[in-house]
Amino acid sequence: MKKIIAAVAAAIVIIGGVFLFINQRGSHKSTSNENGDKRLSVVTTNSILENMVENIGKDRINVYSMVKRGTDPHEYEPRPEDISKTTNADVVFYNGLNLETGGNGWFKELVNTAHKKFGKQVFAASEGVKPLHLTTNKNEVDPHAWLDLSNGIQYVKTMTKVLKEKDPKNASYFQKNADAYIAKLSKLNQDAKSKFLDIPAKQRVLVTSEGAFKYFSKAYHVKPVYIWEINTESQGTPEQMKRVLAAISKYDVKHLFVESSVSPKSMDKVSSETGIKIYSKIFTDSLAKKGTPGDTYYSMMKWNLDKIHDGLAK
Ligand SMILES: [Zn+2]
Repeated sequence: MKKIIAAVAAAIVIIGGVFLFINQRGSHKSTSNENGDKRLSVVTTNSILENMVENIGKDRINVYSMVKRGTDPHEYEPRPEDISKTTNADVVFYNGLNLETGGNGWFKELVNTAHKKFGKQVFAASEGVKPLHLTTNKNEVDPHAWLDLSNGIQYVKTMTKVLKEKDPKNASYFQKNADAYIAKLSKLNQDAKSKFLDIPAKQRVLVTSEGAFKYFSKAYHVKPVYIWEINTESQGTPEQMKRVLAAISKYDVKHLFVESSVSPKSMDKVSSETGIKIYSKIFTDSLAKKGTPGDTYYSMMKWNLDKIHDGLAK
């Protein structure tokens, strides 16, 4: 009798296990979210925003990013695919703060063409960030807020809020992912706060092509020096070259840096004029190609912090 009971119990366990297995496979294979609804279609203007929103929505959203990796998001000519993806999107995230404004405002034009509305389907990821202004034109704000990790964290909070509103059934899933992601970014930010303080102030000078490091410099105690202020203006003019060489001569600059999304021509010229070597490429307006260092927001910030620190220290 005991043997029979044991055999029946074993059979129940096995059958139960098989059912559980089939059930798990079924839900895993599903291409829509857990309630069988369609996944949110999210469009972002660039790869940095794309990676942030992927960390929040993971497998429960579809993401399409317009400006390809390694290219400049200030000036951009939308392609037919960008227009159709934006037309069909549930949510569109752009940086705002004067980033996507080149060529008469390419993004605003695209939003009109796609019949979308700001505040309805289209949201600035930078909402809630305290903007810094350009030095040359104080009426305009500097877009590069994400280069300070605490602003990046604010972007993630804003995007999470929008995703939760657009897809309430997945709200707790998005929030859980966002919390874990924010914890990881906060840890990096905490380490970065004191990272540069072991370098003498005269040496703590970051020379780049575009003046993209205002937010970064303020957060991490580095002085920004650059050839031109923003990629929407003419680049590497004789006047700009004269000004950057004069600025460099005031400090003890150990190395120069060049951004991955601009031509290195002007910085090469600064290097040959001053005899100071370019230490490394760094990331500002775009992530690296997938599978290489700097291909996520976290890894681009880590790369920048490490390379800039090491280049200024020696
Ligand atoms: Zn830029």
